[in-house]
Amino acid sequence: MNEIEKRQLIIKYSNSFNSLNLSPLRSGNISIKHKKQNYEGFLITPSGKKYENLSDLDIVFVDSDGKNHHELNLPSSEYNFHLDLYKETDCNAIVHCHSKYSLILSCLRKNIPSFHYMIALAGGDNIVCAEYGLFGTKDLSNSIIRAMKNRKACLLSNHGQIAIGNDIHEAFELAQEVEFLCECYYKCILLGKPEIISYEEMQKVIEKIGNYKKS
Ligand SMILES: [Zn+2]
Repeated sequence: MNEIEKRQLIIKYSNSFNSLNLSPLRSGNISIKHKKQNYEGFLITPSGKKYENLSDLDIVFVDSDGKNHHELNLPSSEYNFHLDLYKETDCNAIVHCHSKYSLILSCLRKNIPSFHYMIALAGGDNIVCAEYGLFGTKDLSNSIIRAMKNRKACLLSNHGQIAIGNDIHEAFELAQEVEFLCECYYKCILLGKPEIISYEEMQKVIEKIGNYKKS
């Protein structure tokens, strides 16, 4: 995929934040790994711009040293964890959003247990809630890296969620799945205490999902 296609996909999915009710107004951010000339780095949504007004040229390239290559725009204020996730995982795309039910559950600062087998989509037997940190800081980024160990998605305390993937389509779909699971878990705990699928059983689910994706 060339640079223009990546920029267009970032805009397309940023607009989907609003149209799919996944993240209100200007909240959330999206990035795709990219190599530009001799620089490794990523393309990311700019800071403070309405998604509906974005053009290809507004998307910001940040290199792996955290240097902004855009002459006018700043990268999203939360670019720090994108920088670190590309260093610490082998993902190619990152979606961060303030989706309603992930945000609600993140305020409880608790991991989401395996109340449903599809929790395994996030990579393990639970979805971990990263410790609270001020948005945009290295502290928050460090918490996220811990929560994303062996995972493809996590909650951020009092904030929202992050999903990563091999490409932007996969990362965005996972963010939607996480939001759906959060909504279901929220409704389950309103009714009572859901039965939790055992760790051993979840290992079988994780293996089966891995095989299913390969086939
Ligand atoms: Zn955020």
